[in-house]
Amino acid sequence: MSSLLEVRNLKKYFKTPRGMLHAVDDVSFSIEAKHTLGVVGESGCGKSTLGRVLIRLLDATEGSILFDGKDITQIRQTKKLRRKMQIIFQDPFASLNPRMSVSEIIAEPLIIHGICHGRDAVQKRVEELMETVGLANRFLNSYPHELDGGRRQRIGIARALALEPQFIVCDEPVSALDVSIQAQILNLLQDLQRDKGFTYLFITHDLSVVKHISNDIMVMYLGMVVEKCESDELFENTLHPYTKALLAAIPEPTIHRTRNHDVLHGEITSPIDPKPGCRFAARCPYAKELCHQETPKLQEFLPGHQVACHYVAEINS
Ligand code: SF4
Repeated sequence: MSSLLEVRNLKKYFKTPRGMLHAVDDVSFSIEAKHTLGVVGESGCGKSTLGRVLIRLLDATEGSILFDGKDITQIRQTKKLRRKMQIIFQDPFASLNPRMSVSEIIAEPLIIHGICHGRDAVQKRVEELMETVGLANRFLNSYPHELDGGRRQRIGIARALALEPQFIVCDEPVSALDVSIQAQILNLLQDLQRDKGFTYLFITHDLSVVKHISNDIMVMYLGMVVEKCESDELFENTLHPYTKALLAAIPEPTIHRTRNHDVLHGEITSPIDPKPGCRFAARCPYAKELCHQETPKLQEFLPGHQVACHYVAEINS
């Protein structure tokens, strides 16, 4: 299978009054067409910034992004790119214009990009998109505040699908929703991928959410990738201390408790002008002197399973 997206040594730094904030720091990966890469990490780890840089809502500081074989890192005309790359936001309420009706919100990209011509054609396409995402026709003239969170997220998905993109960044698309609604939206995204062949970058802070939807998972900590492998492998063979802590944080019923529920302690290192060393060292129970001096490289420890940790062998022996 060929890669739809190839990212090499991508960096995104922001100037702040206190120094340079390393939001995304030397990140490389690829995503095969029709596959899903889950990106997991706590808030502030750079995963949302990464998603925005990929679809060129933000400029990269360094590195390259190849989309469908074409270098889009420096592209200035992003309107054409918007047709191929879309984003579904975390908070459907904040991302929808409260003064526009459901049909106007979904119709907007169709009109801006000249996908449909004439009122009837636009209306027909809006109704098709609503059906695709499971929104009843009776909500055509409703406003976002009149709908529940699940329905609002369906509008966000319909709007992203309107341009028939190849690649969609799903930025925490279910974290603002109730658990039962989360499952419905995840199923919808999976069904759409099967039927329409979308490629997803699925961003979340919750490992349990990406378990079933992702082919591969990449764990980020303070702008850097600390572990990357196939989804099943990550859950069966968790190697990095940070990923282990994320897994331990997933709630499980008391009687079936199988995991050690130790929570993370220690200060989070500042991402502003970070010093050499492992960025997780201040919170890692295995940290030694070397961890505070040298940044561990992301290396293949097992076939197809990459980890950035000086003591991965020792920790997992
Ligand atoms: Fe912990 Fe050191 Fe490994 Fe970082 S490099 S995860 S501090 S053991």
